[in-house]
Amino acid sequence: MTLRCDLIIRDATILDGLGGPRFTADVGVTGDRITAVGDLGGRAADREVDADGLALAPGFIDAHTHDDRAVLCGPACMLCKMSQGVTTVVVGNCGISLAPVRMKSRPVPPLDLLGDESWFAFDSFGDYAGRLARDPAPVNTYALIGHMSLRVEAMQGDTQRAATDREAAHMQARLKDALAQGASGFSTGLYYPPNMMAPTDEVIAVAEALRSVGGLYVTHMRDEANDVLLSIEETLRIGRAVDVPVVISHHKCSMPENFGRSTETLPLIDKGAAGQKVDFDIYPYAAGSTVLMPHRLRRDVPVRITWSVPHPELAGRMLADIAAEWGLELRAVAEKLVPAGAIFFQMDEPDVQRIMAHRLAMIGSDGLPHDSYPHPRLWGTFPRVLGHYARDLKLFSLEEAVRKMTGHTASVFGMVDRGVIREGAYADLVLFDPATVRDASTYDAPTRPAEGILETWINGQSAYVFGAGATDACAGRLVTRNQG
Ligand code: ZN
Repeated sequence: MTLRCDLIIRDATILDGLGGPRFTADVGVTGDRITAVGDLGGRAADREVDADGLALAPGFIDAHTHDDRAVLCGPACMLCKMSQGVTTVVVGNCGISLAPVRMKSRPVPPLDLLGDESWFAFDSFGDYAGRLARDPAPVNTYALIGHMSLRVEAMQGDTQRAATDREAAHMQARLKDALAQGASGFSTGLYYPPNMMAPTDEVIAVAEALRSVGGLYVTHMRDEANDVLLSIEETLRIGRAVDVPVVISHHKCSMPENFGRSTETLPLIDKGAAGQKVDFDIYPYAAGSTVLMPHRLRRDVPVRITWSVPHPELAGRMLADIAAEWGLELRAVAEKLVPAGAIFFQMDEPDVQRIMAHRLAMIGSDGLPHDSYPHPRLWGTFPRVLGHYARDLKLFSLEEAVRKMTGHTASVFGMVDRGVIREGAYADLVLFDPATVRDASTYDAPTRPAEGILETWINGQSAYVFGAGATDACAGRLVTRNQG
């Protein structure tokens, strides 16, 4: 037993990540691991932190991100996450991943959420993993491989149809290689035009690569509106067909005519969960954000522009205001703004709360780090759940809030020795003030850092300090499903 630690955090209120009741203890860290939890009164450390009255939790795991490129860009790019206490991000969601595809021209939306063609420069997932090994990211990265990225490559951009058997076999082989090189699962975005024509059987054919390694199937479903129940059934069917766990991304009931229907979707998911492994993530807001699709606009869903290639000066403006100024219909304006992104006010708060409170819910930001005027979820998701939803609205306990962002998530994704405070676990930690923690980002000021998150450690290294910002530690690692 080591008597001297690198770091001791003393008298902290420990939230263990598993939902157990809080208790007061000291936590000792040596190297990249937690080496002691308890009364460490007899021990000394190179650095001691007095955490009396403060909460110490496992570092938060952002279950749903589009940080594939942001993790390659240094600490400043990940400040939005580390300032929330996030220590691990799941990249490659919604069918969109940087690897393994090389682009020669601007990627089709929504692949361009990750950037222009210059960023799609990884022929294999191994190349991407190699980059993270040579030049470590500020946070831990856990990677999914996107169906859309595989499709664009296998079908040479001709995606408005079902893939042929040969193309599906090619995608399956590419996915299998990526899984062997450290990727952990497969994501789809069947809602988006470049994938909509993919029938369930195509998805099953590609996802077959998951079976032998027990990889995860993660999906932005085909429909989150009128046909949300059919989409949940499709998702469950895909999981059963290849015998792997499934994760429903950013679960919601979209569009005014579907408000309240979480009373139908959650029981259907529960029914599925009785016979197979299914979980879901959610962001704590009643508005979503993605690329702007002119043909899908509706008058009853307000839209705020987050970026536009031809009109960058309009980021942050309401689409309806621009339409009034220009004397044009919404769709005509949108056609002048694309390629572009937007925030869509398309959900109902009671659904958001009902879904978030469900025992299977994990917290995932779905933040879009390259948007010039991002949805506030990018900077505010985790403190918003801790402050607004757990402490202020009492939607669930602080212990449960932390479980939804740590232990539960680590268990769903198979992140070994993460998401928990115990001896032997990785020292991914966040120190925060439970009385003051809150999101400060809003729709009008979307990049204001959270308050009350005091310090974030990743693999034992201090990564973020309130008031001082991100450190240059870059101690992040690639985390692979079920590998220690
Ligand atoms: Zn999505």
